[in-house]
Amino acid sequence: MEGLKAWFQCIQGCEGRHELNEIIYRCPKCDSLLEVCHDFERLKERPGQEWKEVFERRYRRSDWPYGSSVWGKKEVVCPNVDNENVVSTYEGGSNLFWAERFGKEIGLDDLWIKQCGNNHTGSFKDLGMTVLVSMVKQMISEGTDILAVACASTGDTSASLAAYCAVAGLQAIVFLPRNKVSTAQLIQPLAHGALTLSLDTDFDGCMEIVQEVCSKNKIYLANSMNSLRIEGQKTISMELVQQFEWEVPDYIIIPGGNLGNVSALGKGFSLMKDLGMINKFPRIVCAQAEAANPLYLSYLNGFKEFHPVKAKTTLANAIQIGNPVSCQKAIKVLKEFNGIVEQASEDELANAAAWADRNGLFNCPHTGVALAALIKLAKRGEIPRNARVIVISTANGLKFTDFQVGYHQGTLAGVKSLHANQPVDVAANYTSVRDAILRAVDSRK
Ligand SMILES: *Cc1c(COP(=O)(O)O)cnc(C)c1O
Ligand SMILES: [Zn+2]
Repeated sequence: MEGLKAWFQCIQGCEGRHELNEIIYRCPKCDSLLEVCHDFERLKERPGQEWKEVFERRYRRSDWPYGSSVWGKKEVVCPNVDNENVVSTYEGGSNLFWAERFGKEIGLDDLWIKQCGNNHTGSFKDLGMTVLVSMVKQMISEGTDILAVACASTGDTSASLAAYCAVAGLQAIVFLPRNKVSTAQLIQPLAHGALTLSLDTDFDGCMEIVQEVCSKNKIYLANSMNSLRIEGQKTISMELVQQFEWEVPDYIIIPGGNLGNVSALGKGFSLMKDLGMINKFPRIVCAQAEAANPLYLSYLNGFKEFHPVKAKTTLANAIQIGNPVSCQKAIKVLKEFNGIVEQASEDELANAAAWADRNGLFNCPHTGVALAALIKLAKRGEIPRNARVIVISTANGLKFTDFQVGYHQGTLAGVKSLHANQPVDVAANYTSVRDAILRAVDSRK
């Protein structure tokens, strides 16, 4: 479709459109977040069935940039970027893991894990970052003066921003809460040459400073209040429905911190329905760590009020956020998708992750939060046995080996490691080894 254009608009419905190449993150009238809007009149000229065929044809092929599962849906994501300005690492197309054994153990027959950790930098953040950094490259090519792109991060956003900036040859600046990210999450931005600022505060503290820095300098803000990221992230809904031959699942469980991802998930489903690609919605379950649970508390009072909390330390560091920027968007989505919010303690999230690992997964702690919530809902019968359930696994377990090692050594605070496994020291001779094997086989009986 030629000449298609998307624009920013206030989520509260204030009048006025803003161009995507304008440096703007909030509504100038009411200060609410903006969202990217698309020209649905034009998009609907193509029937839903044809959109499916177009997306299907491009999926994971090599016609630049459409092989990326995000850019394969370019018309409904960000048509404003010229193909030569797309900064892509072939995002999306992550596999669905059929958790057959784990599902049976927790009382579900049709459980799937969407492995978003199999993206380029090891988390779903790549899906959104490709859109944001591409738009920055587009703006620079049009003559806009941007010195650098910055974000506050709990680890994965900065890894992703740093990688995409390195691909594009742009300067990244990342603000990290000191000693609160994993080793892998710290080394990723360093390896990509990002200016890595380690601040003696938490994520919410980093967020305040990065906003001030961006508003007073020619530095573009890459946090998820910038709704360009949501446009890329929403393709996760489209991709997983596509992977089920365009059949909509019954439940989707997703861990939530800043709540951009749950907003994006809802936006993807709404878009597909508007375009006539699907005719029903799944129920969406947002899972929070008990240590950082403002959305859960709001859910308990029917979303009548929302109060930020002071986030406490959690193993699920990427969702250690007390004042989520996208809470209003997320609440809107949860109301529309008959949503549920559940929480998980440190003990529950760590043991849920480890239990699923025993069945062949290799989970990050955030996926552990989602799995712990799932276990509770299945046990209570809130999710019926025959429902098709998708858990969004947000990051690759290999980024969180500090967590895994601590679990199996039994050193995690507040966690009783029910599934710990340790190396067995054995003398280097046949009988000792055989005895060790027999003991192990015996204990499985
Ligand atoms: C960012 C992140 C989340 C939370 O996503 P939000 O959009 O902030 O709710 C969850 N898990 C991982 C691994 C993340 O990196
Ligand atoms: Zn407004």
